[in-house]
Amino acid sequence: MKYDVIIIGAGPGGIFSAYELAKKSDLKVAVFEAGTTLEKRHCPIDGKKVKSCIKCKSCSIMNGFGGAGAFSDGKYNITNDFGGTLHEYIGREKAIELMNYVDEINMTHGGEGTSMYSTAGSGFKKLCMQNKLTLLDASVRHLGTDKNYVVLENLYNELKDKVEFHFTEPVISLKKKDDGYEVVTDKGTYSCDKCIVSVGRSGSKWMESVCEEMDIPTKSNRVDIGVRVEIPAPIFSHITDELYESKIVYRTEKYEDLVRTFCMNPHGLVVNENTNGIITVNGHSFEDDNLKTDNTNFALLVAKHFSEPFKDSNGYGESIVRLSNMLGGGVIIQRFGDLERGRRSTQKRLDENTVRPTLAATPGDLSLVLPKRILDGIVEMIYALDKIAPGMANDDTLLYGVEVKFYNMEVELDSNLETKYKGLYVIGDGSGVTHSLSHASASGVYVADKIIGE
Ligand SMILES: Cc1cc2nc3c(=O)[nH]c(=O)nc-3n(C[C@H](O)[C@H](O)[C@H](O)COP(=O)(O)OP(=O)(O)OC[C@H]3O[C@@H](n4cnc5c(N)ncnc54)[C@H](O)[C@@H]3O)c2cc1C
Repeated sequence: MKYDVIIIGAGPGGIFSAYELAKKSDLKVAVFEAGTTLEKRHCPIDGKKVKSCIKCKSCSIMNGFGGAGAFSDGKYNITNDFGGTLHEYIGREKAIELMNYVDEINMTHGGEGTSMYSTAGSGFKKLCMQNKLTLLDASVRHLGTDKNYVVLENLYNELKDKVEFHFTEPVISLKKKDDGYEVVTDKGTYSCDKCIVSVGRSGSKWMESVCEEMDIPTKSNRVDIGVRVEIPAPIFSHITDELYESKIVYRTEKYEDLVRTFCMNPHGLVVNENTNGIITVNGHSFEDDNLKTDNTNFALLVAKHFSEPFKDSNGYGESIVRLSNMLGGGVIIQRFGDLERGRRSTQKRLDENTVRPTLAATPGDLSLVLPKRILDGIVEMIYALDKIAPGMANDDTLLYGVEVKFYNMEVELDSNLETKYKGLYVIGDGSGVTHSLSHASASGVYVADKIIGE
């Protein structure tokens, strides 16, 4: 089967490439996706019969139409300050223009009526500065998990007659041929003139093998390691009501390491995440008031980047997660008061805790898992945040571990996001260039426009 363009992966990157190609060209496009259609995506954890991750072959949270973003909080951060380094390839202005373009599409496909928050002119910035904290600039569109789903549903309905989707058909190999590319799955062999690879974090190992086989240079990336914090929503409400998501950075006094908040979910839920078989923690929240909880959660992360002689930053992160999975059978939960007293949390202590956990995790001791330097930084930041949000350092604050943000190795790309092979593009989180919905989606639009010649 021959196509003009094959897109590998139907996450935000792949979807927005497909959308742009379908809208602005007559090119014959196929999308190959390892996971299922949106409506078939269903994580078996129900809190009753299945309480923790059973390591499905294809993880419904990470794979399928919508990619890792499908059940996410749907926070589209419009900024060059975080979420990826797309601007280094395509320029700051272009990056913001495309993120806004993606926002417009989301707004005409079910996202209308959702809120856009902005740090511009926020008095909260000063309060942060006065307490050795830095608030990063951004506008954030919060779709919420429910609206995000509707947007994806609408995009799929619009695309399904114009683009050929191949679900549950992971691409096994990708080869350069004289007249384009050959894509092999367990169901067939396909060829195309141009290929857009958008396999996200879950496709990181596959992407690495493709780069190795095709001799495409790569660079190691950083890994972010830390915990997810859960507190009663009122403690952070003065911040989340105004900004929804705030990215706050703190430089530790002890090591001068940077610790940052990440993925803030007011009135949200803490959830498991399965990355290549290891269980980490994440969070999301709903736009629908009926689905809101009493708690707010966000991650506190420390970045680690190894280069010489050890280069495998992700391997380091994975080992820490494996340790937590070994001790806790999955995610570990600990009260901040227990951590500070040097003792593990127990079910009894959790039952007596005033903050009710939204994720059933194993009570334990995070100090047996996280390296001292990382844990020291997190504890320091909790006390720094306590100055702008009193109550943050309460004994009953919950910490879930381990939260790890793996970044794909950076694939060597030019300013078209094209590899050294003409017509082979790598976009989204799989390229190591982006690590957010907005940047991944914008990168998808960008390469589609390059292919069309816009
Ligand atoms: C629980 C959760 C919450 C999040 N919340 C937010 C948020 O609020 N805001 C934000 O900006 N970001 C958030 N993120 C991150 C965001 O989802 C990602 O940055 C974004 O989805 C990246 O898009 P992508 O298209 O590059 O990759 P992905 O979304 O990972 O999609 C890649 C797709 O490729 C498929 N694939 C992989 N390998 C193959 C193969 N060999 N053949 C065929 N298909 C393959 C996968 O199945 C997957 O569907 C969250 C992530 C998670 C897990």
